[in-house]
Amino acid sequence: MMRDEAMRQRGRRREGRREEAMREGKMSEPLFCVNHPNVETTLRCNRCGDPICVRCAIRTPVGYRCPRCVREQQAAFYTGTAFDYPIAALIALPLAAAGAYFISFVGFFFAFFLSPVAGAIVSEAVWYGVRRRRTRYLWLVVGVSIIVATLLVALYQAGLFAGYPLVLGRLLRLDLGIYGVMATSTAAARLRIGR
Ligand SMILES: [Zn+2]
Ligand SMILES: [Zn+2]
Repeated sequence: MMRDEAMRQRGRRREGRREEAMREGKMSEPLFCVNHPNVETTLRCNRCGDPICVRCAIRTPVGYRCPRCVREQQAAFYTGTAFDYPIAALIALPLAAAGAYFISFVGFFFAFFLSPVAGAIVSEAVWYGVRRRRTRYLWLVVGVSIIVATLLVALYQAGLFAGYPLVLGRLLRLDLGIYGVMATSTAAARLRIGR
């Protein structure tokens, strides 16, 4: 008898908790992914609140988000157009060539210290040239421009444009090699991170 009474009391308590949970919305309808209506889920996008399944959820530094929100935020982040790429190349090529030409006279020791500075100058000039509009591949366009400029200067210094035959030994220069690597990586990193 006492046992029956205890069980009934426990049952009543459980019922009470359940009702409480329902009122607070904890035991609401099961969620289904907005993109996959047959997939049940407990995840929600933390920006728009849409239910999303694990396949749709994109992990961001601020939590799980739905693909639509991630696309919208990327569109808001990139403010430039494809026209910024030729502008960037037109600024980066002559500047980087001037830098490479200068480096080809100072020796590889100074190339170590001056190449990152040259890379920073090129990236700043491009950044102002495109009026601080962000584009996805700006870093890549500028990086390729610096490499092309360095190669052109190396060919020029090897005498190719003066009609001399191309000698690989004269083309492979330590100072310009250092410049090509350090200026390119500095400029690309500056344009890629935080911009
Ligand atoms: Zn969302
Ligand atoms: Zn899904």
